[in-house]
Amino acid sequence: MCGVLGAYSGKDYVAEEIYLGLSALQHRGQESAGVAWINGDRRINVIKGMGLVHEALDQGRLANVKAKAAIGHVRYSTAGGSHEQNAQPICANYAQGPVAIAHNGNLTNFKILREELESRGAIFQSTSDTEAILQLLAHQPKRTPLDALRRALAGVTGAYSLVVLMEEGLVAARDPWGFRPLSIGRRGDNYYVASESCAFNLLGATFVRDIEPGEVLLINERGLSSYKIPIETSRKCLCSFEYVYLARPDSVIEGRSVYRARQEMGRRLARGEGGERCVLTDGVADADFVASMPDSGTTAALGYAEESRLPYEAAVVRNRYVGRTFIQPTQRVRELGVRIKLSPSPDLFRDRSAILVDDSIVRGTTAGLVVSMIRECKTRGIHLRISSPPVRYPCFYGIDTPSKGDLVAARCTIKEIAESVGADSLFYLSREDMVKSIGIPDNRLCTACFDGNYLEETDESESRRMVKRIFEQV
Ligand code: SF4
Repeated sequence: MCGVLGAYSGKDYVAEEIYLGLSALQHRGQESAGVAWINGDRRINVIKGMGLVHEALDQGRLANVKAKAAIGHVRYSTAGGSHEQNAQPICANYAQGPVAIAHNGNLTNFKILREELESRGAIFQSTSDTEAILQLLAHQPKRTPLDALRRALAGVTGAYSLVVLMEEGLVAARDPWGFRPLSIGRRGDNYYVASESCAFNLLGATFVRDIEPGEVLLINERGLSSYKIPIETSRKCLCSFEYVYLARPDSVIEGRSVYRARQEMGRRLARGEGGERCVLTDGVADADFVASMPDSGTTAALGYAEESRLPYEAAVVRNRYVGRTFIQPTQRVRELGVRIKLSPSPDLFRDRSAILVDDSIVRGTTAGLVVSMIRECKTRGIHLRISSPPVRYPCFYGIDTPSKGDLVAARCTIKEIAESVGADSLFYLSREDMVKSIGIPDNRLCTACFDGNYLEETDESESRRMVKRIFEQV
């Protein structure tokens, strides 16, 4: 996870707009937030802190900042620990001037990058992989920052959607595989770059287009200039999990509405064709209503209800005042966290049979606890429906899924999962139906956490050669 946002304007008020836009990207990261801008005196400035946007940043202070360009970040850690040192944007003043960078994704060759850079004298201030990109820039002191960035990215593998602030202007870059979304919006002379288009809605901007995989886009007083990262790739890998769970339903990614994709997942799930399934007790046919695990399962549940001609009822209530930061990574506190966060309505479940739709099952903790709470309501039946295939493989591209041993679908059969969560039946959406619902060609999507079809890893010696090439003719 993580959300990035950049703004470029002919006027001097974009820092506060970054604050506001980051609020729309809050679902992508709640651990820390930050905003960076460059002053007229060539100094880089940054405000960042731990917590939600309104906790970490002072809106009043940002409203008084005069800056024509600024970038921001909300963080959910996947590489490097959750502490202030790793909060972004990461900033530096180097031989070619000030630079600030904010990153969504995960660099798969970070260990090699760090070893190579440290062998050349680099001193890392954080454990975040993003700092390696900044260090690669600083180790090419004779190139312009933009040229150095393009060259640096040719030595990096994995997932990155970046916003970078340099004296040449605001830069947006997306890895050649296109793992994470990144798009451009516009309001008059103002340009915005955001992880998700929902930020444009809040800023009154209109969506212009997605940043292409492998594109480096410079925005400054001369307008938009597009460049390529000099690296060839044979496949594209837009994360399918963005459509299943990560992105906000009011976002549009690569021309496909996240809401419409989730709704279609629900419809196809209701048709019940093809996905992995298990029925422990009969009674699916006499379900009284469809409910969802809020909020992530709600859009698919609406599609399911429409297709099955059953009423949708908001029978599981979410406590909106508990954030993800509350949930600590121990089983005991995670279980308590679920009870505080989600609560079934006894009146709606008592003596009735329900279809309960969720977007995915990762560890099985949430599903198991919610089903047991529903059982306490004296339900007649509870049939769990999952609007994606079983998650059996970890993600190495910027999503904090647990290791394989902690993924319930990697350890257990579908019957064992149904038994362990206490459902009367359990159906998953098939991979084919998930891809059809997303509506983007199969060969442009990453589905590795469902099928293990990872991007072929660059072997270590080739990866070292790629990194060394960056430093040639510096
Ligand atoms: S492995 Fe899964 S979560 Fe990670 S990028 Fe691929 S589809 Fe997305």
